[in-house]
Amino acid sequence: MTRLESAIRRLTAQRDLLDWASRAISPTGLVLEVGLGNGRTYDHLRSRLPGREIYAFERSPAAHPDCYPPEGYLIVGDLFETLPSFTERHGHGSAALIHIDIGTGDEDLNRRVALRLSPLLEALLQPGGLLLGDRVFEMPSCRNISSQTGVPEGRYFVYRRE
Ligand code: SAM
Repeated sequence: MTRLESAIRRLTAQRDLLDWASRAISPTGLVLEVGLGNGRTYDHLRSRLPGREIYAFERSPAAHPDCYPPEGYLIVGDLFETLPSFTERHGHGSAALIHIDIGTGDEDLNRRVALRLSPLLEALLQPGGLLLGDRVFEMPSCRNISSQTGVPEGRYFVYRRE
C-alpha cells in the first residue's frame, strides 16, 4: 500500500467512525475532541452534532481559522495538565464521546503517552460513553468494541465504558 492509500484509509476510517459515534452516543454529555490539530475532525463532529457542547484540547493551537471552537471551548495546554483540571471542573463521567487523535510517527512514544493518558480519559467517560482513538488505550472499565463498528481491524480503536 502506498502512503497516499494508507492516509486515505485512515481518514476514511476516522470519518466513518465519527459518523457512527454521532448516531450512537447518548443524547446527554459532553463531547471532547482531544488534539484539535488543524480542526478537520472537530469541524466534522460539530457538523454532525449541532447543539452539542464540544470542547477541544490542544497545546499549540494552529487550526484552520474556520475551525476554532467558540470562546471557552478551546482548552489550551498539555493534556497531562488540562485533562485533570477539566475533570475537576466538569466532574467524573461527564463525557458522552471522546475523540482522541494525537499520534506522531514515533510508535514507542505513542504507546507510552497512550498508557499515561488512559486513566485520565477513562475518568471522564460516562457509563455507556464512547472513546474513539487512533491507538490502543488501557481502560479497565471499558470494552474494546472496535470489531462491532465495521472499521478495518487495527486502523482505529473504539471503547465503550461499561
Ligand atoms: N484530528 C485533527 C484534525 O483532523 O485536524 C488532527 C490532530 S493532530 C494529528 C494531533 C494534535 O494533537 C496536534 O495538533 C498536537 O499539537 C496535539 N497534541 C499532541 N500531544 C498533545 C498533548 N500532550 N497535549 C496537547 N495537545 C497535544
